[in-house]
Amino acid sequence: DESLLLHYQPQLSLTTRRVTVAEALLRWRRPDGSIAPAAEFIALASQSDLISQLNSWVLEAALAAAARQRLQGWPDLRVAINVSSRQLLRHDLIHDIRTVLSRSSIARGTLKLELTESLVMENPEYAAQMLQRIRELGVGLSLDDFGTGHSSLAYLQRFPFDTIKIDQSFVRPTSRGTRPVLLKSIVAMAHDLGMSVVAEGAESDSDAVELSQMGCEYAQGFAFGEPMSADAARRMLN
Ligand code: C2E
Ligand code: MG
Ligand code: MG
Repeated sequence: DESLLLHYQPQLSLTTRRVTVAEALLRWRRPDGSIAPAAEFIALASQSDLISQLNSWVLEAALAAAARQRLQGWPDLRVAINVSSRQLLRHDLIHDIRTVLSRSSIARGTLKLELTESLVMENPEYAAQMLQRIRELGVGLSLDDFGTGHSSLAYLQRFPFDTIKIDQSFVRPTSRGTRPVLLKSIVAMAHDLGMSVVAEGAESDSDAVELSQMGCEYAQGFAFGEPMSADAARRMLN
């Protein structure tokens, strides 16, 4: 469908300043040509089967884009897509991933999934099983918006995530000056658990410097690029 498109936002290594992951973010082109951000329609789509169809399309389109880019001199580039609970719990996701990966010649390890904390509450045992099976396909698993849910710490023990993405509300400076304490602790904990850490919402270069000093190895945010069209992403990389 012509009215759906993906924007991509780069995730960078704070040590090498190289792009390591492109996160695919869904957009909808309104009839008047303007572009609606995901937040405007994802919640609504999540209440129906529409979300599964959207996610299947995203998976396929994002992997195809990554395959092209890897051939053009970015052999290590990975692509991350966001998935919703409905899709995980309905068995569609693992089926879709298997199908798309088997059709594509893309290297194992290219795909990452980002899941939010609210996701797995409904049926934790089943979700843990599905996530384990997805991981066995070589797919990376990131816990998105970390710190905003209700049982963040339990999630880390229970589910096979390899990366946590710290929610932007922890990354943005606060008037109480508690940012460094929380961030440092989250980073240390993640590392002790053998996970990598991505800070979301790094908006300025000083954010990036500070994050790096706290031991955070990856960041994503307006400081490094807003979500952009596939063409713009290609230009940025090349
Ligand atoms: P998310 O995965 O946590 O994505 C990050 C959101 O923060 C994006 O909003 C992005 O535009 C925004 N952002 C990035 N850097 C900065 C920054 O430096 N400052 C600020 N203030 N914001 C920043 P977006 O694209 O509107 O997406 C919102 C949410 O919608 C996503 O949160 C994700 O949970 C969901 N979403 C996006 N695409 C999809 C999709 O294809 N499928 C599903 N199921 N959910 C999606
Ligand atoms: Mg995300
Ligand atoms: Mg997030």
